[in-house]
Amino acid sequence: MTYSEQFEQFWKLYPGRTNERGRVVKQDKLGAFREWQKLTDNERKMAMSVHPAQGKYTPDARKWLYHNRWEDEDIGPGTVEKTQLYPIKGKTCSKSGCRMPAVYHDTSGNYDNYACSEHMPEKVKERYV
Ligand SMILES: [Zn+2]
Repeated sequence: MTYSEQFEQFWKLYPGRTNERGRVVKQDKLGAFREWQKLTDNERKMAMSVHPAQGKYTPDARKWLYHNRWEDEDIGPGTVEKTQLYPIKGKTCSKSGCRMPAVYHDTSGNYDNYACSEHMPEKVKERYV
């Protein structure tokens, strides 16, 4: 069996599963290649750039390709539907002067901090807006 160069690259990048002895195992390369051949160019690109985390439960590449699992991974802006934020009942933005309804509740500090969609931390904005 000759695998395409692109597939070989994917195979190399794919994390594989860790077995009981801590070794990385990658199974069913041929099966994975068959799935690979069914993918569009775009899907292949996605499969190259998004991988599951390596661990005991990493799916075999074949299954992962078969189920288009990269769609489940967080792959950044434009590709994943953002989580919707809803106004928190009875709360307004903590920023002084801002009276917008709060949609974000920060519990990491010493006191409760509420923010509207304008004033929430940039990091959070990236994920939600
Ligand atoms: Zn605000």
